[in-house]
Parts: sequence; C-alpha cells; structure tokens
Amino acid sequence: MEVSLCSKELDKLFPKGRKAYIHSFGCQQNVSDGEHISGIVQALGFSFTDEEDDAELIIYNTCAVRETAETKVLGHIGALKALKQRKKNMLIIICGCMTQRKEMQERIKKSYPFVDIVFGTNNLKLIPRLISRRLSEGKRIFHSDIGTQIEEGLPIVREDSFKAYLPIMQGCDNFCSYCIVPYVKGREMSRRPQDIIDEAEALVKNGCREITLLGTNVNSYGKKEGYDFPKLLKAIDELDGDFFLSFMTSHPKDCTKELIDVVAQSRHICHHLHLPVQSGSNEILKRMNRSYTVEKYLSLIDYARSKMADVSFSSDIIVGFPNESDKDFADTLSLIEKVRYNALFTFIYSKRSGTPAAIMEDEITHREKAVRMNRLLKIQQRISHELNSEKVGRQEKVLFDSYDSENRLAVGRTGANILTLSQTDTDVTGKMCLVTIKEAMSAQIKGVIDIIY
Ligand code: SAH
Ligand code: SF4
Repeated sequence: MEVSLCSKELDKLFPKGRKAYIHSFGCQQNVSDGEHISGIVQALGFSFTDEEDDAELIIYNTCAVRETAETKVLGHIGALKALKQRKKNMLIIICGCMTQRKEMQERIKKSYPFVDIVFGTNNLKLIPRLISRRLSEGKRIFHSDIGTQIEEGLPIVREDSFKAYLPIMQGCDNFCSYCIVPYVKGREMSRRPQDIIDEAEALVKNGCREITLLGTNVNSYGKKEGYDFPKLLKAIDELDGDFFLSFMTSHPKDCTKELIDVVAQSRHICHHLHLPVQSGSNEILKRMNRSYTVEKYLSLIDYARSKMADVSFSSDIIVGFPNESDKDFADTLSLIEKVRYNALFTFIYSKRSGTPAAIMEDEITHREKAVRMNRLLKIQQRISHELNSEKVGRQEKVLFDSYDSENRLAVGRTGANILTLSQTDTDVTGKMCLVTIKEAMSAQIKGVIDIIY
C-alpha cells in the first residue's frame, strides 16, 4: 500500500523515469542492509546507476564505528551540495549507524540543508513512508528511533548471485568500553532459525556457492530467544550442495568448544575462525570490558587447532587504546606471534563520545600509535607471507568472483578468505575450483586451476 502510494507520487515528480545511487559504508552488515535498500527502492520503480550525477535518489547507508568513517561520509554528503543545486527534485537520504548519533543528526540538520531525509538503524521498511511524507509535507524528515523488531520479508537485490550475506542477528549487548555499536544499533535480536534455514536452502538451490552468516556477534545468536548457534550452523551445514559456509563476527567470550566441534565435523563450514581479540594485554582487555583473558583466548585457539590441523585464524586489533603502555603493546605483538593469524584487521583507537573509554586518560600521542601500528603490520605481513608460503604445492578450493578477459586473470578467495589469482582462458566467475598454489605473497596467492566444479 505504502509502496504503491509512494510510487505514484514519484511518477509525478519524475515522469521521465528515475534512477537511484546507493552507497553503503562500513561493515558487511551495512552491505547486506544496502541490498535490502536496493530491493525497496526497486519496488518503488527506480533502476540503478553507479553515477551520483545520474541519480534522482541518493542514499548513503553510513557507519559510525570510527571517526574516520564518519569524516568520509560527511565529505561525500558535502560534495552533493552542487548536485542538488542543479537537480532540485533530487532526493537525498542518509541512514544507518552514524545518523543514530544525536550530534550527527544535528550536524546534518544544520550544515547540510540539502539532505531530505535522515533515519536511523533497523528502519528500512519506513523508506516508502518517509519519502511520501517528504513529498507531501515538504518538510525535511529526521527520524531518530532505532527499530525494535527484526525486519523480515523485505525485498532484496543481491550484489552477486553466487555468494550471499545472510543476516542472523543484530545489535549488541556487550558494551565494550571503546565501541559505539550498542548505542547505534540497539540491543541484540535474533531471527527465527527456520526463517534462516529456509533462506539458506533457497540460496543453495539457486546456485549460491558461498553463504556468510552475519551478525554483530553471531555466536551469541538466540541467547535471549532460546535458540542455539551451533545447532543453527549444523542445520545449514546439512543442506546438500557444493558451497562454502562461514560466519562473522564471533566474540571470543561466546566461542564454545561445541561451536568449534561443529565447524570441525562439518561438510561446508570453512576451517577458518575470525575471532577478534582486540589486544594481547589482560590489563587492556579488562579496561575494554571484553570478558576474556589472553589465556582463555589462547586455549580456544589451541582447542581449534587440536580439532582441525588445517584451521586458520583472523582477528581485529585495536592499537593505542587509552594509555596502552609499551608492555601492553609488546603483549599484543607476542600474542600475534603465538597465534600466527592468517590476516589481521587493524585499527588505531578512535575516541567515540558517549562511550566509557572516551573519558579515560590517554597520554599516548597519535604519532606513537602510528609507529606501533607500523611495527604490528610489518610483523603480520611476515607471518601472512610465511603461512601463505606453506600453501605452495598444495591444492586449495577457491570461489572465483571476477574475470579479466584482457589479462586472462581470474580473482577469487579461498574458504579462509585468502585472495587468489589464477591465469586462465575460461571465465570462471561464480565457479568453485580446485587450484594448485604456485606462488605466495603476504596478501595473496597465485595458482593454477586443476578442476572447475
Ligand atoms: N562485534 C564485533 C566487532 C564489531 S566492530 C566484535 O566484538 O568483535 C568491528 C571492529 O571495529 C572491532 O572488532 C574493533 O576492532 C573495531 N572498533 C570498534 N570500535 C572502535 C574504536 N572506537 N576505535 C578503533 N576501532 C574500533
Ligand atoms: Fe562493539 Fe564489543 Fe559489541 Fe563488538 S562486542 S559490537 S566491539 S560493543
């Protein structure tokens, strides 16, 4: 009803047709939300364009996790001013985590008067209604409530047909002292297991070769509702087909032996765990409110290794948490050497107002934090190179997602998310292949395709 009403109003405003430009900043969950935004916008009669200049509707789905992410979004919004002056009827919508912060809503209200609609997280279904209101009432719209229910049944336009993000839960109850996520995404909520299993089954039936279960903390899936993450994983793993199954992000405090056992005994689940540790210092972990110790974390790693000889790990690390001492940082380096991660996602601590860490004393200069980051990256590069080199001569299963016919180059990823390049005359986009690894670098491997499934 709301969709058809809104479409009619849009027909009047854009009688010659309409295109939308949608950009999601930040994490995979935002990318997944962006696919639903595309679905809704398509139902409203828009086609899509990759050029902002060419669009009648621009939607930025934003990220607030670090200040740099917000600065980037603000830069993009600022650049729309001239475009809106030229295309007066154009609609500009800003949504997602950043808009959930009061000070950001105020800033957009005051400094970017050409933005039409701002709305916060978990409210995608409101898009048609908010556009209608904007068109009929003429006033700019600022909607600040976080939606309190999981949004089921939204239309979707997926970016790829052969790989899919499948959200299973959202929100966060953990309140790590540095993190803005619980404030902008609200409390944890989980989808019903059968809804997820049905969606996974439909994806596999339609030829999807990689499913990534998504959530702020996937392994606390269903804690409140009485569902169980290992059980859910097992049920999806039982589906027939040839596909990679993975999940992110897991919080180490909710990573159980039972979960690791399910991964080890599975048919489709990649033997890879993304387990964000954040720091290798117990003192810092305590001040971060992470609820585990380095010893507990390492015992999980050891357990996973005892069950899967081929398991690999990746992690998130924050460098320069307030007053991180030289010793704390050395402990992080030592943890990295012990675990030997396949890859690391590293961030310099970013102060987020309203979080407990924002009022902690911090005498470490940004310059010192940058020096530490460089030291850490060098060590990680060496470890990644060493681990990749061990793969030379072995066969790996790779899902290819693009092909450059001019250079005969296929680009894909292994189940452990390692970038893989192969020279081939066949366009293997969307194909699962067995590849013999011939060459290794720190950020990628190269190999020859033996079998195309
Ligand atoms: N729920 C996930 C992480 C979600 S946020 C977990 O707990 O593991 C993704 C990553 O952003 C975090 O793992 C952390 O490394 C980083 N991050 C979050 N807040 C940050 C901040 N204030 N400064 C720097 N990095 C931050
Ligand atoms: Fe942020 Fe911690 Fe929640 Fe992860 S678990 S989203 S780091 S508060």
